[in-house]
Amino acid sequence: MAQKECYDVVIIGGGPAGLTAGIYVKRAALDAVLIEKGVPGGQVCITKGVENYPGFIDIDGFDLSDKLYQHAKAYGLDTVQDEVLSIEPGGEFHSVRLAGGGVFKAHSVIMAAGGTARKLNIPGEIENFGKGVSYCATCDGFFFRGKVVCVIGGGDTALEDALYLAKITKHVYLIHRRDEFRGSKILQQRVFSQPSIEIILNTVPSAILADENGVRGVALKNAKTGEEREIAVDGAFIFVGFSPNTSLVPAGVAMSRTGYVLTDDKCETNIPGLFCAGDLRQNFAKQIVIAASEGCIAALAAARYVEANKAHRIDALISK
Ligand code: NAP
Repeated sequence: MAQKECYDVVIIGGGPAGLTAGIYVKRAALDAVLIEKGVPGGQVCITKGVENYPGFIDIDGFDLSDKLYQHAKAYGLDTVQDEVLSIEPGGEFHSVRLAGGGVFKAHSVIMAAGGTARKLNIPGEIENFGKGVSYCATCDGFFFRGKVVCVIGGGDTALEDALYLAKITKHVYLIHRRDEFRGSKILQQRVFSQPSIEIILNTVPSAILADENGVRGVALKNAKTGEEREIAVDGAFIFVGFSPNTSLVPAGVAMSRTGYVLTDDKCETNIPGLFCAGDLRQNFAKQIVIAASEGCIAALAAARYVEANKAHRIDALISK
């Protein structure tokens, strides 16, 4: 694609929020480009079974991402694979600076950059990433076929992925720091009734243990009694939440206390023409359907903003 320098809308992020925004801005006949640094789909791509996206009883995360991508492409959305370094808010146009050297100008920018897996920050974690430490069961579960693994975390991702790993591996330790899970009740019931998942509660991992072949175990500490012990595992899957990708959010954008972008009900930030949708936005819950709906709202509002911005420009030219 021959890239232009000026667009009606630049969308940053190719997850459900960004791709849905792409569908809606193209249906509004806007000139738009979507920038994604990795593969389209975002976090959903690394989710094995999605069971709560309306219309699909059970769909693979990669397949759902691909459907969203193909849908946006069918309306002619331009996509660019690059990393956004910064957004510089302007008057009529905002500028989006790319790692590849380009700068796109746009009347409106939709930030839909989501988040990335949070780290435990314990000894042995980063050193053994790819050598037994993983943040993605769908990507790496295959390498642990018939082996023993642990899953760390108590949210939906940890429960979902423990269930997925239980089908592939010999045994799954599910380690959670409290005595009750944060994840949904339906997933909890399934985890409790899966015989190859052994639940270890009130326990925090203090180190990932490894030798020259990679991960060999995890050091644990009971959060109530202080008792320490080690368990032998071949892999450690860490799902302790995610951090919003705020590095591209320009200074001056209002943020929540917990580090998410604040918007009004049109998904517009306090900077006119700068919108935010999905997991980067402060919202009630992180769900694919919510990200998609926010992408829709941001796109509809951006379309209205672009129209008004262009009309204002024409008025200004006429009155000169
Ligand atoms: P999450 O809901 O934030 O859960 C993170 C888990 O990790 C919590 O159980 C937390 O414990 C634990 N944790 C955090 N820091 C820790 C630490 N330093 N040491 C040990 N444990 C730690 O994250 P998530 O599961 O990735 O989900 C993120 C969002 O996506 C949620 O809103 C979730 O509902 C949504 N999601 C939805 C689906 C779905 O609907 N299919 C699938 C996946 C994710 P505490 O509970 O004690 O805080």
